[in-house]
Amino acid sequence: MTGTIAQRIAQIRQSLPPSVRLIAVTKQASLNAMREAYAAGVRDFGESRIQEAQTKQAQLQDLPDITWHLIGHLQSNKAKKALEHFQWIHALDSLDLAQRLNQLASELAVSPSVCLQVKLVPDPNKYGWTVPDLLADLPALNECYNLQIQGLMTILPLGLDSSEALAVFESTRELAEKIRQQKWSNIQMQQLSMGMSADYSLALQAGATMVRLGTIIFGERAT
Ligand SMILES: *Cc1c(COP(=O)(O)O)cnc(C)c1O
Repeated sequence: MTGTIAQRIAQIRQSLPPSVRLIAVTKQASLNAMREAYAAGVRDFGESRIQEAQTKQAQLQDLPDITWHLIGHLQSNKAKKALEHFQWIHALDSLDLAQRLNQLASELAVSPSVCLQVKLVPDPNKYGWTVPDLLADLPALNECYNLQIQGLMTILPLGLDSSEALAVFESTRELAEKIRQQKWSNIQMQQLSMGMSADYSLALQAGATMVRLGTIIFGERAT
């Protein structure tokens, strides 16, 4: 990886269709690195820990037009904090959590955008709905009026070759199309949050609309 953060962002942008949203994943990135990304035009920042995001938000208050995306697993007891600090929640992974967020969103008078995390391949180490479980939960999700359900999110299991990875991303897009055809009143399926540094070109090929990129912008993380 070469160049400055601004140069890397410019390079990545060139490889993205204009409609694709670049989410700069800033977990463990310094405030200076985040300011560089902001200066290079990034307005979407992704964090996986609420506490880390909260600390950074307090120190970046002079950058008012950032959209904050929670990309990591959300524990139910942190749902309120998540709503206070993020406009997007990408890893919504159960009906219980959706209903809790919906209730809290009403109390806080917010309407967060969310993506439903799905596992196309069984993987005990990953969170998310299996396809049958998600399809079964759609009627109840459709009742979560305070959530803007925007689409699907997926994370690949480890160890897939590129044709397998592409197949998983394509199945995710097909699932979104299938749900869209069911014409739920409160479930949009326009967004596909998929693709990280190692696999985002495959995700784009399969129709990703949001890519979540950390390492390729900010360098390797400590752990
Ligand atoms: C860390 C993380 C990313 C970014 O990963 P990179 O490989 O650094 O691009 C994307 N999505 C989620 C859910 C993550 O936790």
